[in-house]
Amino acid sequence: MTIGFDSLTMEEAVSQAMAHIENRTRCRVVTPNAEFALEAKKNPRFLRILRQSQLVLADGISVVYAAKIVGNPLYGRVTGVGFAQALAAALAAKGGSLYLLGAKPGVAQRAGENLKKTYPGLRIVGCHDGYFQDAGSVVQAINNAVPDALLVCLGAPKQEYFMEDYDNVLRVPVMAGLGGSMDVLAGNVRRAPVFFQKAGLEWFYRLIKEPQRWRRMIKLPVYLWDALIWRVTKGKQT
Ligand code: UDP
Repeated sequence: MTIGFDSLTMEEAVSQAMAHIENRTRCRVVTPNAEFALEAKKNPRFLRILRQSQLVLADGISVVYAAKIVGNPLYGRVTGVGFAQALAAALAAKGGSLYLLGAKPGVAQRAGENLKKTYPGLRIVGCHDGYFQDAGSVVQAINNAVPDALLVCLGAPKQEYFMEDYDNVLRVPVMAGLGGSMDVLAGNVRRAPVFFQKAGLEWFYRLIKEPQRWRRMIKLPVYLWDALIWRVTKGKQT
């Protein structure tokens, strides 16, 4: 069973999300990488949520490579952070609003301040950290703020479960599960320099900066190996 990535440019992804905001229809955005794909193989609920999302963006370079390997290439990489920034820009142009959920206390507020500075006109209508006990009251606060879009940065699969659990209750057109993006938007974690990003080596930069992540990153080659085996034995699988 495949995840079913969307082959889109960043502009196309954002314009689809903006169309959902205009029409007030639901758009759940997920940003799978190699780690997600391996988790989805053994976690049917997670796989189902990813498959049923309206926008499935190829966040990791390994996904782009895997798609090439299986002969089903994607347009390119659409990172979660990049999507958040491009969506913020599009919202700002229309006086739209964002609610920021996730990361440690204070981080979402800082991310909100940075976004407002970078994209004047953007309205940040609420923030909440990602370490809450009472999800019901968080959902209520989000609904009371009436945002156009919600960034859910709780790590996977927690953020995908949250988006599904409250799918019927949340009155927000666009909700996007964006993992560690809040820390980047807040300026706590730096993205790799453009050279690394362009060379497809952002993972390598992150490994140098956060060597404790090696256990998670080992999943990258495992996933590519998986894709290779799939091509040899079973056909397309992205
Ligand atoms: N996080 C959270 N609540 C939790 C667990 C994690 O808000 O219960 C946050 C954590 O502080 C971090 C993000 O979720 O900001 C996950 O980051 P990670 O680097 O694991 O995500 P990735 O981008 O690698 O998926």
